[in-house]
Amino acid sequence: MKNTALALFALLLSAAATAATPWQKLTHPVPGSPQSIGAFSNGCIVGAQELPLQSDTYQVMRTDQRRYFGHPDLVLFIQRLSTQVHNLGLGTVLVGDMGMPAGGRFNGGHASHQSGLDVDIFLQLPTTRWSTAQLLKPQALDLVSRDGKSVVPSLWKPEISSLIKLAAQDDEVTRIFVNPAIKQQLCLDAGTDRDWLRKVRPWFQHRAHMHVRLRCPADSLECVDQPAPPPGDGCGAELQSWFEPAKPGSSTPEKKTPPPLPPSCQALLDEHAL
Ligand SMILES: [Zn+2]
Repeated sequence: MKNTALALFALLLSAAATAATPWQKLTHPVPGSPQSIGAFSNGCIVGAQELPLQSDTYQVMRTDQRRYFGHPDLVLFIQRLSTQVHNLGLGTVLVGDMGMPAGGRFNGGHASHQSGLDVDIFLQLPTTRWSTAQLLKPQALDLVSRDGKSVVPSLWKPEISSLIKLAAQDDEVTRIFVNPAIKQQLCLDAGTDRDWLRKVRPWFQHRAHMHVRLRCPADSLECVDQPAPPPGDGCGAELQSWFEPAKPGSSTPEKKTPPPLPPSCQALLDEHAL
């Protein structure tokens, strides 16, 4: 029994070692004027800022992972959103992963979050502050029913709609990813004011958090934006297609070999990650 456990442990260790990426060696931001470089799923960042860990309006989860770095625009966005939420008396924003100190590829979990412009935010707004222990091992609240077709009515709160809407109405935000069932609920809840729904995009998982993506900062010349989402609120046929069974290509995307790094990110690695 013990041997089996040991063997498994060794296997896990070696798997973790092979999965490591050079970006994890960069434990501090690369000094320089802030620049988001490359694409959200293949990029890096110079001059990243640390999200202040103490705040009256938000709490940062899993600080032991040190994924609370991003472009200053992202830090400002989190502060702006959480202040709005706080001022409306909706609760405290729970901040999950942003990026690593120099951005870049994670060893697992996220494909994007690489250029300092992505943040995961929990879809729950506690009215009392979480303890350090709770923040280190956050309990995700799965808002989606088991069949994936709707939210769980007893867990869905109007505050969550408000949180997502406030984020979507922020000028710097280009996209927000949530589970299709959550998008569907937002479509049902929204009245005549629906423009903001365009930025809220259905995606795999994202049952307990939303992933917020900012546009490329104007002075980040090597930052690559995504095309704007299609016009409209996205509540029609496209959303419905997510609920249809076994559509080709509707399975979780496969892991592909990473594309070559943008030259500036490669140069940064060559200089700092040896
Ligand atoms: Zn994310």
